[in-house]
Amino acid sequence: MQRKVIVLCYHRINTLDLDKNLLAVSEENFREHLRWLKGNYDILSAEDDWESEGRDAVVITFDDGYEDFYIKALPIIEEMKIPATVFITNGKDVSNRMMWWDELEYLIYDRYTPPYLHLKDEIFDYEWSLDCNENKDECYKQIHFLMKNLISSEKREEWLNQMWLWKREKRRLIDRYKMLSDEEIIELSENPYITLGAHTLNHSALKNRSIDEQQIEIKDSIRKLENTIRRKTTVFSYPFGVYGKDYDEIANGYCEENGIEKTFATNFGAWNPKDGLLNIKRNGINNKNIEEFKAYLKWIEEA
Ligand SMILES: [Zn+2]
Repeated sequence: MQRKVIVLCYHRINTLDLDKNLLAVSEENFREHLRWLKGNYDILSAEDDWESEGRDAVVITFDDGYEDFYIKALPIIEEMKIPATVFITNGKDVSNRMMWWDELEYLIYDRYTPPYLHLKDEIFDYEWSLDCNENKDECYKQIHFLMKNLISSEKREEWLNQMWLWKREKRRLIDRYKMLSDEEIIELSENPYITLGAHTLNHSALKNRSIDEQQIEIKDSIRKLENTIRRKTTVFSYPFGVYGKDYDEIANGYCEENGIEKTFATNFGAWNPKDGLLNIKRNGINNKNIEEFKAYLKWIEEA
């Protein structure tokens, strides 16, 4: 019988005071996850041939390319001798390499925040009150939605610049949001346990973008990654990743044109050979303890 493959999607291994998107898994929980997986499944890499016979398998993936992958996850992965894949968003150079939702989180929630936020340009004119946590949550949610789906990546940069001015701070890298440097990416590419894949330049939901923008986001992120690591990549994961909602077949076409063999979604469930190698389902992992993790895996298996 052919096996199922359960693909897991992590983001960060860290312990954070502020983590609005629940991206961080503690080192302790991550180690427990891997130990249990190793005892119960084959663990494959994203680039392996999954159609081989064997017991049910798991594939470990990380999205975005946070630096804590290198600092905290990699030592555990090497100790356990487990393959993992990192999908890297690589549009920015290292001097300002932060994910936009992290900057937004810092700007709205951290330290002193003026009580009103007014974002204005030639098209948009929005005002939010930030006098309590509920209002901050509402503001964060609305700007997140606009940045994910509607405004261009240039406009997003403009808005972030406006918000740094509004907060009266110089735009700068915030330590806890650091992403992998090019040197770290190169080092990871030489590590036998690690596979690297692309994840667009600017991390927008592609479906709402023009065809040209989708092509650039896909093609240029693949090229740029391949230039950095001086080898080909054959795997790609979609930002936000819900098939039909955040991207569609247009994007798969551009991936295939650029040498990608497997594309990864975030739809829930396990992979079966009949599913093919596009839109592979993945299952997001937040900071679950081992009992919650086991129950979640069981749920995926049975879905
Ligand atoms: Zn992502």
